[in-house]
Amino acid sequence: MEAPSDIRSADQLLTQLGVPAELYVGGNRPIRSPITGETIAAVYDASAAEADAAIERAHQAFLAWRDVPAPRRGELVRLFGEELRAAKPDLAALVTLEAGKIVSEALGEVQEMIDICDYAVGLSRQLFGLTIATERPEHRMMETWHPLGVVGVISAFNFPVAVWSWNAALALVCGDACVWKPSEKTPLTALAVQALFEAACLRFGDAPAGLSCVLIGGREVGEALVDHPKVPLVSATGSTAMGRAVAPRLAQRFARALLELGGNNAAIVAPSTDLDLALRGIAFAAMGTAGQRCTSLRRLFVHDSCYDALVPRLKSAYASVPVGDPRRAGTLVGPLIDQAAYERMLAALAEARALGGRVVGGERVDSASGAFYVRPALVELHAQVEVVRSETFAPILYVMRYQELAEAIAWQNDVPQGLSSSIFTNDMREAELFISARGSDCGIANVNIGPSGAEIGGAFGGEKETGGGREAGSDSWKAYMRRATNTLNYGRSLPLAQGVSFDL
Ligand code: NAD
Repeated sequence: MEAPSDIRSADQLLTQLGVPAELYVGGNRPIRSPITGETIAAVYDASAAEADAAIERAHQAFLAWRDVPAPRRGELVRLFGEELRAAKPDLAALVTLEAGKIVSEALGEVQEMIDICDYAVGLSRQLFGLTIATERPEHRMMETWHPLGVVGVISAFNFPVAVWSWNAALALVCGDACVWKPSEKTPLTALAVQALFEAACLRFGDAPAGLSCVLIGGREVGEALVDHPKVPLVSATGSTAMGRAVAPRLAQRFARALLELGGNNAAIVAPSTDLDLALRGIAFAAMGTAGQRCTSLRRLFVHDSCYDALVPRLKSAYASVPVGDPRRAGTLVGPLIDQAAYERMLAALAEARALGGRVVGGERVDSASGAFYVRPALVELHAQVEVVRSETFAPILYVMRYQELAEAIAWQNDVPQGLSSSIFTNDMREAELFISARGSDCGIANVNIGPSGAEIGGAFGGEKETGGGREAGSDSWKAYMRRATNTLNYGRSLPLAQGVSFDL
């Protein structure tokens, strides 16, 4: 086997990325790399007082930032994008070390940050509202969009940097400040991103202090953001359990919630499918990122007529996919994030077996190390049994046979989550039905590509237990601003709407 291409330590990478050692040496929270299971740094959790002070500082920064013209705010994001371009290989190497992503996917994650910065720079000149016909003479009605305040960002381990950037790049051009609580499993990449952001601020010149900052810690630090009266919007990415805890607390104080929660994504393989194309799409979506994407393919419905042509080929792909050190050229499946993830995978496979599932794969590879490498598992099932209806954040693909498309779409929608979905078909009627109102009930519905690997230009997010939030492209920016409807009277009389008269 080839040796890993980049074996730089966390210390070397963090130094290269401009993070001072006092932020990651000697802290209370040890950080382990899923590649080896070894401790690679020890960071400091923010205390309640530090969290409060950071939010207050961010609020003060917001009060100044909202007055900066949006295209000038875009200039800061443009400079940050430049920092990311220059640091792309180093930041990606840190993503690999801390989250276990293979090199190409880690580079892709940083590219996604660069892409959203470019997008946000353009957006900084396009934050437009409507003018609306008014029923009153000599009046004008329009809407204006204003900065919202401090945006709290809570992120998950599996996209340790990109998810923050989807929020922050937009929030910053919209005139907001940001406070970021990264996953407690991946704070090092957050510290590196913060250092790059601060380098961009230096070049920018007059960005207010505390405009964007990182608070390290676990759930309590997330709760500090969720409960703080000066945080009008919390964008929270993670499990549905987290969303269930966060949403009512935000509702309690009428703050906005942008929720990006668990998925249970499906694909349908229809009779007219190009099987080679489907095989590649399924393999990447189901095994990529070791099944640890919110959009990972977890359920596959294959038409009876092509089941025997496709599923044996899929099984041999599962048997041969290279699993191992994500830094090694050729590896396609890296480690699970930790032991708990591995145990959840074993438990789900045991349950599937007990319910009649036939399992290929799922064995631990390289079990001597403190890391958790597993061969992705494919499970053939006769029906969508209970274990299939919940998200196990691991590379398990449940495969089921169908006869009628309507039945496959019904099964696809018959889960509590609603993030991503796809159909592989060359039949235009099937494709159109799938993306119609009677088709997929997910936030993402694709044709002839898998459910994972979205681009930043579209709005990203899902329905039902996925939380309903939308991030990144399209008009997602509106979530980070407040809308005012303005009616202006330029006449000399005061006609009331709906013909109401109120003459004194
Ligand atoms: P997690 O829910 O364990 O943690 C996510 C974040 O929420 C962490 O920063 C954590 O500290 C914080 N948190 C947890 N409980 C909290 C609480 N009560 N109050 C405030 N903050 C709290 O998720 P994870 O294991 O890091 O990530 C995997 C999950 O995230 C999967 O379910 C996956 O589908 C989901 N995810 C969804 C998307 C999406 O866009 N829909 C993207 C990535 C990951």
